[in-house]
Amino acid sequence: MNEVDHLLEHRFETLSLEDKLEVKRLGPHHPRDIGISQTAGKNIRAFNVEWFAKKKWLTASIQKKALFCFPCLLFGGSGGEVTWSRTGYKDLKHLSERITKHESSNSHLDNAMKLGLFGRVNVAVQITALTGAAVMSITGKWR
Ligand SMILES: [Zn+2]
Repeated sequence: MNEVDHLLEHRFETLSLEDKLEVKRLGPHHPRDIGISQTAGKNIRAFNVEWFAKKKWLTASIQKKALFCFPCLLFGGSGGEVTWSRTGYKDLKHLSERITKHESSNSHLDNAMKLGLFGRVNVAVQITALTGAAVMSITGKWR
């Protein structure tokens, strides 16, 4: 149920809380063979699955033969980079630079944070429960 094709059909916001938490737990789907390739002259450029290990947010659609961003697929509304959230990315030639560009985009950072916080209902409680010493050390750290 964490497959891109499934999530494109069943939007994350329409899922039950239980299913949402399960999608988050499963994380991005990393199909072994996505068959994304590109011919450049005589050379065939194929997608290297090692990218999945390097970029935790990267996921791919088998049906579309395209790459997606997991947090943007889940939380990206109409704004942001639809290439990574709706249509899929296919241009392997510029993959490296486009990945770097997407990672630093505001919409991606926002969606990644939403995913990180999703389901952590106890965060506020935990923060109020911190002792004075812990608060001091945290605030000291960020000074
Ligand atoms: Zn993203």
